Amino acid sequence: MQKYSLLSLVRNGLTGHRNWTTAWRNPPLQDRYDVIIVGAGGHGLATAYYLAKEHGITNVAVLDRGWLGGGNVARNTVTIRSNYMRDQSIPFYVKSVKLYEGLTKDLNFNMMHSKRTMIDVVCTYPKMRELRRRQLTMDIYGSTYKQITTKEVRRRIPALTGGGPDARLPVIGGMVHTDAGVNRHDAVAWGYARAADARGVEMHQQTPVLSLNRGGDGRIAGVETSKGTVKADKVVIAVSGHTTTLTETAGLKLPLRTMNLTAFVSEPVQPLVDVVVNCPDLGFYFSQSDKGEMVIGGAPDSGQSFRRDIKQHVFEDTVGAMLELFPSFKKLKLMRQWGGHLDITHDASPIMDETDIPGLFVTAGWWGGYKAIPAGGLAMAHHVATGQSHPLMADFTVKRFKHLDFIMETGTTTAR
Ligand SMILES: Cc1cc2nc3c(=O)[nH]c(=O)nc-3n(C[C@H](O)[C@H](O)[C@H](O)COP(=O)(O)OP(=O)(O)OC[C@H]3O[C@@H](n4cnc5c(N)ncnc54)[C@H](O)[C@@H]3O)c2cc1C
Repeated sequence: MQKYSLLSLVRNGLTGHRNWTTAWRNPPLQDRYDVIIVGAGGHGLATAYYLAKEHGITNVAVLDRGWLGGGNVARNTVTIRSNYMRDQSIPFYVKSVKLYEGLTKDLNFNMMHSKRTMIDVVCTYPKMRELRRRQLTMDIYGSTYKQITTKEVRRRIPALTGGGPDARLPVIGGMVHTDAGVNRHDAVAWGYARAADARGVEMHQQTPVLSLNRGGDGRIAGVETSKGTVKADKVVIAVSGHTTTLTETAGLKLPLRTMNLTAFVSEPVQPLVDVVVNCPDLGFYFSQSDKGEMVIGGAPDSGQSFRRDIKQHVFEDTVGAMLELFPSFKKLKLMRQWGGHLDITHDASPIMDETDIPGLFVTAGWWGGYKAIPAGGLAMAHHVATGQSHPLMADFTVKRFKHLDFIMETGTTTAR
């Protein structure tokens, strides 16, 4: 793998940037691999990388129906945090945040990581009680969460001029999560892909998987693609919102719904906010990008859908809520809007498990799964390679829904 450094940048600059090698190869598709990973998003690529790096399994193909990193991994609002509620979740996200902090070095790819803190602006006492409860559990696992006064919230976020005592929802305080940050999204896909390719993993773009194949013994036997049959004893499904459309081709039903989540950005403005701002009571959050754009998100649309654009009422709800606390933002011009389709389980926690079909693994339910990519990939690779669940993901099983062992995780970032 060509090493990226200041020296290589200068050297290549002097030769007109003609000598860079391609980031990953484009090999012909073989008819058998040890492992097939469906989906070249964050979770698929991270699983491939850690399979090669941690377990020496390199006869791996990552198949994507579109282009590498064209899914939710490059459509999200790049927030990384570990302020979760449950004992099963917090250590997993603490590990993922830590891995993110070292990812630039590990992958030799600039992640533009910025550990800039998140501030939850709180407007109701039930939400404050819930976040305080979160804080106590997070303390046990070494994640940072601290209550601050309204005065301190306003000092840290000067643009927060709404939410006064006479407002519909007055600000009553906040929570500071110093572990939170942002990280360039497509760098995650490109960085993992390049590093996995360097260890022998193959990427196959424009290769949709049409169905899953099972052998006579019921085990997974491979996949049917637009380019023909590809065999493997182990298949990992990492296709976010399309999980159920694929697993149902093998007769497997999963407790997942697909929903639309959207975001939008403003024109670039002067530096205004240096933290990620989140208001769970009103249902919006934003951060300012390095270019100066406000990157704004809200709650998922409550109807099930595979759409990737934005519905007008979702957009209006989010903007309306944001203007209640940030009235000066009404002058901002919005430049772009987009969406993605997320798969959400009944308890809002992920599924990372081998399914009832031996050899078929699923990593799904990632409605806030960008922050989870490094730990998710690490844990899935461990399970695929060893056949044993990684301790970080041991509770995120499919069978928890049969036994009602829910890991309820809603309401961190948005009102719903
Ligand atoms: C607007 C928005 C904002 C978000 N903000 C955040 C955030 O701030 N923080 C956070 O943690 N998370 C956030 N998320 C969620 C996060 O982006 C996802 O949870 C995560 O990216 C999903 O995992 P992935 O990267 O593996 O999925 P994807 O990148 O979607 O990868 C799935 C891949 O599978 C491919 N695929 C699908 N079907 C097939 C098939 N049949 N054959 C072959 N390939 C197939 C797709 O082309 C795609 O490339 C946000 C999501 C959206 C949409």
